[in-house]
Amino acid sequence: MRRPLIAANWKMFLNRESAVELASALAEKTSDVKERDILVCPAAPLLSDVATAIRGSRIQLGAQNMYFEKEGAFTGEVSADMLLSVGCSHVLIGHSERRHVFGEDDVLINKKVLCALESGLKPVLCVGELLQQRESGTTEKVVHTQVTKGLEKVDAPDKLTIAYEPVWAIGTGKTATPEDADAVQTYIRKTVADLFGQDIADNMRILYGGSVKPDNISGLMAKESVDGALVGGASLKADSFYGIIDFV
Ligand code: PEP
Repeated sequence: MRRPLIAANWKMFLNRESAVELASALAEKTSDVKERDILVCPAAPLLSDVATAIRGSRIQLGAQNMYFEKEGAFTGEVSADMLLSVGCSHVLIGHSERRHVFGEDDVLINKKVLCALESGLKPVLCVGELLQQRESGTTEKVVHTQVTKGLEKVDAPDKLTIAYEPVWAIGTGKTATPEDADAVQTYIRKTVADLFGQDIADNMRILYGGSVKPDNISGLMAKESVDGALVGGASLKADSFYGIIDFV
């Protein structure tokens, strides 16, 4: 039985004050939520303050990105150790904006996944197809490549989560139907089973992301293959994110 994980990606939104206010409100609202894991991923400069705001709550802290080297002359980058030192347990890797705005490829993403796992951070590997790839019928091929290359040389993926985020659904208000999400996520699980065996695949959480809102979460979560959500826009307000966490 996989425990649902509801994760917030605050992207490059919020400042110190509004992030702490949101984190504190969520910490209070979720104090009674027992059956699901909750993760918030603020921008890097806000991590320490959000860590303080959620201390003692059930909310876990994640970063939106990291670099794969341990340390060095890499201006502007942050390392896994730095993230661990401010209280992160998770890190998003290969988010579609990293892939498509910043040009990250599967080779770089794989190095980040390997480094996160070696360092003790739990990576959330994001995969998903572009609209033209869906329309040309290559969705499975695209996610197969992203999962296979993203997890190359990984030998213990038990701390890893995958987030299926169709690029055309991110921030657009267009959600994949629960049936579409289920079909791709079932395929992703099969890919993981081919790579690592059925046990690992059965225990791995696969989240859906792409315009998740309080009014569409229940339909998505009703699908066997959907183990939670990665939420952008609707995670920026305590009420709407709580409405997603509190799905029936
Ligand atoms: C995301 O940024 O990962 C995301 C899914 O965004 P949104 O929920 O706004 O589509």
